[in-house]
Amino acid sequence: MAARKRVAARPPGSSTTAGGRARKSPARARKGTRRISAAALPAHAAELLRRLRAVYPDAHCELDHRNPYELLVATILSAQTTDRRVNLVTPRLFKSYPTPTKLAAARREDVEEIIKSTGFFRNKTKSIIGMAGAVVDRHAGRVPGTMAELVTLPGVGRKTANVVLGNAFGVDEGVVVDTHVARLAQRLGLTTHSDPARIEQDLMRLFPRQSWTLLAHLLIWHGRRICEARKPRCEVCPVADICPSARATP
Ligand code: SF4
Repeated sequence: MAARKRVAARPPGSSTTAGGRARKSPARARKGTRRISAAALPAHAAELLRRLRAVYPDAHCELDHRNPYELLVATILSAQTTDRRVNLVTPRLFKSYPTPTKLAAARREDVEEIIKSTGFFRNKTKSIIGMAGAVVDRHAGRVPGTMAELVTLPGVGRKTANVVLGNAFGVDEGVVVDTHVARLAQRLGLTTHSDPARIEQDLMRLFPRQSWTLLAHLLIWHGRRICEARKPRCEVCPVADICPSARATP
C-alpha cells in the first residue's frame, strides 16, 4: 500500500469554508474526521476526483431511462428506495404511460398499483401525475430543460432537477446531493455541513463545473460499493491514504 499522505489539519476551534470564508462557529465535523485546511482542499478534491474516475470509469446514473420524461419519473420514484427497485416497476409504467400526456390522464389507482412496491406510493403517484399534468399544461408536453422550470413542477426539488439536467440534458447545473453524496462529502473532508444545499455549494466551489454530474455518480458508486453507511470498508478503499475519516470509522 502507498505511504499515507498527510493532509493539514485545522487547529481546534477554527474553521474555514471550502471557499475560504471564515466561519464563527464551525459546523460539527463527523466524529473522528480530521479537518483539511482550506488551502489544501482544492488539491485534495482534485486528487479524489482523479482516483475515483480511475476506479469507477463506468460510473453513471443507474435509473433506467430513455428520455427526460422517463428519468424525471424514475427519479421521483427513487425517493426512499433503491434504483433497482425503481427499475423493476418502470418498464410496466412507461409501457402504460409512455408520455406525459398519457400519465397526466392516468387513473390514480392504476398508477398506484404499478408503483406500489417503491413505497410511499400514494404520494409518489400524486407527484408523477401532477408533474405530468404541469408538463402538458405549461410546457406543451415536453419536460423543460432548466432548473428554474423544473423546480416548479410537482414533486420536483433541486436534487431531482439536477439528476434530470445532468443525465438527460447533459447540463452541469449543480451537484446531486443524496444520502450517499452527503455522507461521502463529509467523510472525505469536502464539507462540514449536513444540509444538502450547503453541501452542494461546497462541492460546486471545489470541483470544476464540467465534473459536477460525474462527481455525484462517483460518490454514489463509492458509497454503495466501499464507503457504506454503517460499515465503510476503509481497508480496501482506494482513497484511504488521503481520506480524513479513514480508520476512524467504526
Ligand atoms: S471507506 Fe473509509 S477511507 Fe474510504 S472514503 Fe470511506 S471513510 Fe474514507
